Amino acid sequence: MNKLAKIIEGLSTHELELIHKDLKEGNIERLIAQRRTQLTRSQSSICPVCGQNNTKGARLILEFGPHDLRQKATFDAPDCLHYFVNNNIQRHAPQD
Ligand SMILES: [Zn+2]
Repeated sequence: MNKLAKIIEGLSTHELELIHKDLKEGNIERLIAQRRTQLTRSQSSICPVCGQNNTKGARLILEFGPHDLRQKATFDAPDCLHYFVNNNIQRHAPQD
């Protein structure tokens, strides 16, 4: 909490109002959940397709999603990456 308290002490009135608004709207909770997910995924390198643990050997890392919802997945083999992209990324990509 000391780190957060120091950050808050350095903010202007306008910045505090914006953060208070984000707090009331649930944006801060969303950011915390997003960051926790990122940290968990970066520590864990289990292939999301086949479940293989990727602690050894070459890994393929894919970062995707909009900047505020950036996600990262680690794959053990090109066929797993290909399957993931075909079944998760392309299916949810916006259509023009
Ligand atoms: Zn795999």
